Amino acid sequence: MNALTVTEPVLDAVQTGALVQARNVRKSYGHVEVLKGITLSVKQGEVMCLLGPSGSGKSTFLRCINHLESIDGGRIIVDEELVGYAQRHGRIYEMNAREVSRQRSGIGMVFQRFNLFPHMTALENIMAAPVGVKKVERNAAKTRALELLDRVGLSHVAQHYPAQLSGGQQQRVAIARALAMEPQLLLFDEPTSALDPELVGDVLEVMRQLAADGMTMIVVTHEIGFARSVADTVVFMDGGVVVEAGPPAEVLDDPQNPRTVAFLNSVM
Ligand code: ADP
Ligand code: MG
Repeated sequence: MNALTVTEPVLDAVQTGALVQARNVRKSYGHVEVLKGITLSVKQGEVMCLLGPSGSGKSTFLRCINHLESIDGGRIIVDEELVGYAQRHGRIYEMNAREVSRQRSGIGMVFQRFNLFPHMTALENIMAAPVGVKKVERNAAKTRALELLDRVGLSHVAQHYPAQLSGGQQQRVAIARALAMEPQLLLFDEPTSALDPELVGDVLEVMRQLAADGMTMIVVTHEIGFARSVADTVVFMDGGVVVEAGPPAEVLDDPQNPRTVAFLNSVM
């Protein structure tokens, strides 16, 4: 087990009260640094929209929050815990598999491609993790899954397989599946980019409702209208750095950086 060298007061950031805090996060693939010191925070109940051109590091950043990638520098803290590191006896250690699994179960992720299990019905897809990972009793998991299907407007397709559902329906099942683990944080990576235009609205509406219900969300999206009306904070990333961040009225309607201006012109 590797102990981490801690040069700052351990978890001093906990006092600031944000649910998610990234500080100077760095990540390289080989010699290519794709995250060059990302610092941002998301408070409980807030929605952050991450914008930026392809290749700017948005997906990588989300994946680092959710243990799909490890970081090479900096810190990520979710709900007062370092991502990937546990504190024991005043020292910080790399989490063991059980600790990683527990931490990950609190962070839901929805991908561009819906990634449903093709051999399971919508209902079974939603029940799978609660039953398999959280050891929730089957009947309780089913009751909860049916509630979630209702919440995303899909009670009528509970017994359908993914191939029988539209892309928009599959994505709403994927959101319900993420919610089934009762996450305190939801990450969305371009959740509507793979959808036919007429199916985008229903998915955004579900996300809008989640935001209204107080879910903390980080959303990578090119849907500027969604960002403007739902985000508390909009972050524009380019080349692995945060170029500009602030309320939608500032970043979207009065951008200060020429790169933000150029990007917004290209997508609006
Ligand atoms: P975005 O989501 O903003 O389009 P990504 O986070 O996917 O950007 O990618 C950022 C950069 O990292 C890109 O240059 C991409 O080619 C590179 N990259 C992403 N994943 C990998 C990987 N697994 N191996 C090597 N390079 C990668
Ligand atoms: Mg991406």
